[in-house]
Amino acid sequence: MQNLVKHIADTLLGIGQLVLIAGAVVSLFGLFELWRAAGRGGGIRHRAYNLLIFGLNFTGMAIVGLVLDPLEAKLPNHGLIGWLFPDWKHEGWHGPLLATLVYALVYDFFHYWAHRAQHEIPVLWLFHRVHHDDAAMDASTSVRHSLGAGVAGTLLAHFPTYLVCGGGLLPYAGSVALFWVWFFFSHANLRLHLGWLGWLIVGPQQHRIHHGVSVAYHNRNYAQFFPIYDWLFGTLRQPLPDEWPETGVAGEQPSTNPLRQVFMPWRSRPQRADATTAPTPSGAPPASEGASSS
Ligand SMILES: [Zn+2]
Ligand SMILES: [Zn+2]
Repeated sequence: MQNLVKHIADTLLGIGQLVLIAGAVVSLFGLFELWRAAGRGGGIRHRAYNLLIFGLNFTGMAIVGLVLDPLEAKLPNHGLIGWLFPDWKHEGWHGPLLATLVYALVYDFFHYWAHRAQHEIPVLWLFHRVHHDDAAMDASTSVRHSLGAGVAGTLLAHFPTYLVCGGGLLPYAGSVALFWVWFFFSHANLRLHLGWLGWLIVGPQQHRIHHGVSVAYHNRNYAQFFPIYDWLFGTLRQPLPDEWPETGVAGEQPSTNPLRQVFMPWRSRPQRADATTAPTPSGAPPASEGASSS
């Protein structure tokens, strides 16, 4: 019993630390967002709300982890990285770097399809919509996810990556750090056009297109890091230099109940401001306007 209480206390402490770290990063990005905002910002309360969602989501993931962690432990611990770079741990700085890059490439492939599935399969969209119904997208939006979306990402992106790459800790830790930091950046409310770099890496403007309200932006730019996957699978939309769309889900006011948004997003049906512009359940454009989908 004492061990259980200590485990719960340690877990909650760890989540609190993660929220604080995320808050510090969000605040840092907030300075740049004040300086060069791409759209209307949401202020401190908006950021605090998204961080609250983050903390609740991680609390849920800690509970779900009681099932998922033992499953992960059963996955094979050797894979592509061990095969391509058998000595990556002992090759100075470039071994871990290459291994991390391979891991990130594999992860983003699975993430692309996991993300696309969350837009195209209605029940998954119910969970993913929480991330999209933020009308004032900024760096804090990157941690605004429902528990269901977290579980879907683990099963559809993390586990397959683990199966292919194996479990080497450093590539995994490196990629998580890389993706985490980058995800804050790609969601930042930042007027920054990457130009030709936008063909190599996803930036805030390209991901803003993904969050765009207009149906012209739906089903575009699913990749988290490498735009090549959107290019390969026909969903890339490179932004024009002066293209900074409004973000959110058309015609809907997001719920303001964080518990429902994290744990029961299907019960937090947002109010529809205008039924004629409401999206289909999948977030895809209505059939009559489906030209943007390829
Ligand atoms: Zn999405
Ligand atoms: Zn996003």
